[in-house]
Amino acid sequence: MKRRFFNVLATLSFALFLFTIAAWCWSFHRGQFIFHTSWQPAPRLWMTIGIGFERGVFCLGEERFRISPNQDVDEFLSDSKPGWHFTSFEPRKSSDDCGWCWTVFSTHRPGVGSLAGNEVSHSVAIRCWALAVVLSILPAVWLRTAHGQRRLALQGRCIACGYDLRATPDRCPECGAAVTPTAAAPPRAVGCPP
Ligand SMILES: [Zn+2]
Repeated sequence: MKRRFFNVLATLSFALFLFTIAAWCWSFHRGQFIFHTSWQPAPRLWMTIGIGFERGVFCLGEERFRISPNQDVDEFLSDSKPGWHFTSFEPRKSSDDCGWCWTVFSTHRPGVGSLAGNEVSHSVAIRCWALAVVLSILPAVWLRTAHGQRRLALQGRCIACGYDLRATPDRCPECGAAVTPTAAAPPRAVGCPP
């Protein structure tokens, strides 16, 4: 059960790893951003959460504006209506500018400067290569474990404890683990002389 959980996590991590590599490459060609905006009339709060890639940087952020009564809300809502949005844009020229992709999104809206005092925003930006390294840890551990188990099985040893199973091919006398047919008698490679 524990093992299966680990396999699922490792597979998920590997899928995200591949996605990150693809997004990393693509992010130099086009910036991509998915975000959700919502409007709360009572405290006059305009909120956005988003996730995206731009020029080798992965970013995740949220932004809130408290709009004062004399400010025009339509100005905000006309630019991006409440709901989910996807935007694809020309990435910045230099990766040095792209630590905070959130500002790229913000500059798409006019009037942000005049509301600077009412803005609360939080964002996290991480280099895609760093994210790829983190996401590769679990798949690497999985690969190493699988390789070790395969080596033990080919040597006719228990994959759980490494005990020599040549005398007891059905069950490990040391740890009690049931032995799979491959572990007890590894099939010969096709074309191998007898
Ligand atoms: Zn064993």
